[in-house]
Amino acid sequence: MADKHTSQRELFETRPAWEEDDRRHGTVATVVLPEGVAKPLDYLVPESLAGSVEPGRRLRVPLGKSGRPRVGYCVAVTAGELPQQPLKEVIAVEDERPLLSPRMLGLTKWMSERWMCRWGEVLEAVLPAGVRAKAGRRSAPVLVRSAAEPARTLTPSQAKVLACAAEPMTAEQLAEKSGASRAVVSRLLKNGLLEICDPARLARAKPAAGSGAAPPVLSERQADAVEAILAPMRARRHETIVLFGVTGSGKTEVYLKAVEETVAYGRQAIVLVPEISLTPQTCSRFRARFGEVAVLHSHLTPAERHAQWKEIAAGSVSVVVGARSAVFAPTPRLGLIVIDEEHENSFKQGTAPRYHARDVAEWRARSEGVPLVLGSATPSLETFQRCLAGEWRMVELPQRVGGAQLPAVITVDQRDPASRSRGPVSPRLQAGIGWAIESGGQVILLLNRRGFATAVQCPACGHTVRCPQCDIALTFHQPGSRGVCHGCGRVTRLTPDCPECRSPSVSLRGTGTQRLEDQVRRIFPGARVARMDTDTMRSRGSHEKTLDAFRDREIDILVGTQMIAKGLDFPSVVLVGVVNADAALHLPDFRASERTCQLVMQVAGRSGRGPLGGRVVVQTSSPDHPALRAAATHDYEAFVRTELPIREALGYPPFGHVVRIVVRSVDDAAARHQAGQIAERLRAAAGGPPTSGTPSNVAPAAVRVLGPAPAPIARLRDRFRWHVQLIGPDDAELRRIVRDAIDGFATPDDVAWIVDVDPVEML
Ligand code: ADP
Ligand code: ZN
Ligand code: ZN
Repeated sequence: MADKHTSQRELFETRPAWEEDDRRHGTVATVVLPEGVAKPLDYLVPESLAGSVEPGRRLRVPLGKSGRPRVGYCVAVTAGELPQQPLKEVIAVEDERPLLSPRMLGLTKWMSERWMCRWGEVLEAVLPAGVRAKAGRRSAPVLVRSAAEPARTLTPSQAKVLACAAEPMTAEQLAEKSGASRAVVSRLLKNGLLEICDPARLARAKPAAGSGAAPPVLSERQADAVEAILAPMRARRHETIVLFGVTGSGKTEVYLKAVEETVAYGRQAIVLVPEISLTPQTCSRFRARFGEVAVLHSHLTPAERHAQWKEIAAGSVSVVVGARSAVFAPTPRLGLIVIDEEHENSFKQGTAPRYHARDVAEWRARSEGVPLVLGSATPSLETFQRCLAGEWRMVELPQRVGGAQLPAVITVDQRDPASRSRGPVSPRLQAGIGWAIESGGQVILLLNRRGFATAVQCPACGHTVRCPQCDIALTFHQPGSRGVCHGCGRVTRLTPDCPECRSPSVSLRGTGTQRLEDQVRRIFPGARVARMDTDTMRSRGSHEKTLDAFRDREIDILVGTQMIAKGLDFPSVVLVGVVNADAALHLPDFRASERTCQLVMQVAGRSGRGPLGGRVVVQTSSPDHPALRAAATHDYEAFVRTELPIREALGYPPFGHVVRIVVRSVDDAAARHQAGQIAERLRAAAGGPPTSGTPSNVAPAAVRVLGPAPAPIARLRDRFRWHVQLIGPDDAELRRIVRDAIDGFATPDDVAWIVDVDPVEML
């Protein structure tokens, strides 16, 4: 009896061994799907896959009732007791090794919370398409001219293809660039005159142009700036350093030196530049100094991008230069992040995930204990304020290199009848251009509107021709007298008579870069004129060609949009003309003044970099506006001092945060209704009495909900657009309000809406 009793007790005490089901323990993989389901899902890891399931790899998992297989990202693996409800099993592991490190997974999770977007969306954005592509589905091979000597004379089209193939590109790109057919390219490949280039070599394929030139000896100020960056780099300490230096003060040399020392320390550096200034000039300055540089720009093929990604991850490339998304470069030994022209809007992504690379860079630099350098001649007010608050360190370079003077700025008041002219070029500007060309200098003319005329209007009834699917006036483009919508790109054939009243003629209003180019050619028939805007820069390499020609003095006058305003360093430019400084000043955006001041100062900074000195002519109807006054006196801080109190009074950034919700629908009433509901729910979630409009004497501490209101562009691609704005001092609180308001909120099928946290685009 006693024995029996004992054994029962033993059995009772070891109860888990027989009473508990084995299947209640196991390993669970948490998976985030790139689309569809927003919540992370749990799956059981079968014994057979236990060794290969880890965070950062992608897994094939069954989804929903149908169990249709989908590929998602494994974000966590936990071993232990399983939940009550049965779990579906992981089907397969997609990747041989993790695509994302635990830190990058952490970054993407933070991003999804920070910008209120789906984690899966962020994961997709962080990994280039070439990296995500399945091993079996290879991207097009990259071709390059082989060393073989042609045995027979080449046809003209073959010669053209080979000339283009000096630079590696895919067959499709080669055909496009050379104008030859794909068959010509295939034949050359067959004949051995073209060969497939190993994508892994691409990162170093380009020769280091201009290498050999010894780097300049840094000024004392520059050396101090470099030291301010290197001290935290060596100490593996995070710090944000704002390099506030006038145009031509040698900021780029500071980055180059800091990067050089970082590499000498055995670490890697990421340098972010706006896509627009990923010009050959910037790249070749980096290549000349470091030889092997991974340049990540938007023209790379997926194969090229993947190859560079692998080299960076392997640690064999020490310097990464690229646009916004290069902030995700998988550097295993990061030592420094630099953002040049940090005030540029292009660092914020316009589609989901709507992240800002400056904030991402700060997170990364903080988490990896490395310095972040933000450089600009015109820092964003967000950045300026953080320096004033003592959070970030500002280092100034107030002088141009070598004692060069900033150019004198002449403001032409276009309201003054004496300054009026029939075309866009005032007598003063014309005289300035004449002076520049006679003295052997070059000219840059900025006009931030492409096309020929900015509007087509009927003089009889006043009707302005609009895009049939957008609330946007058509821009008149030559050749072909086409009406182009700059919102959606749609081309409309224009009739010679007014579509509204049938009066026999319409007139072309406003000036775009095409018309400006025409007029300049007419006024200066002896001058060589070129135009640079998205219309003339569509094909690969055209940017490079035009800038090379400008550098080689084959062009006297360069006309262009903001594309020519930034980063260019040409010592022979002695005159910069800003044809219409007001173009962006009156846009319905609280940053309109800031942008105008930045743009005018940036383009002015292209003038007078050489021994000839320089001038700037700014044509404006608002010469007394603080943004233009500051630009005219090269006193950006004066602008900051007038603008910050205005922002503070309104509770706008940098003193507050904005969340913008844009609702779209083909049905105006549906969009309006949905936006109204969202506004109501936001007000309820914010608590307190509903407020609306812009209170002028109310303390900005409270959260405000503005709208619903039609968006400044009220219709785009046949969708009516309404927006609601949430403004308040604390961004976490704003996110909480949005989350509460939209949680479980149903959206009708014909309505879509987006949430933009800290938007830079208000149209
Ligand atoms: P920023 O980036 O501030 O516009 P850059 O670094 O492009 O200025 O410098 C402007 C020009 O001056 C470049 O041609 C650069 O090579 C040259 N430069 C910069 N620093 C020095 C220096 N210490 N000595 C001589 N030339 C310099
Ligand atoms: Zn009319
Ligand atoms: Zn349109």
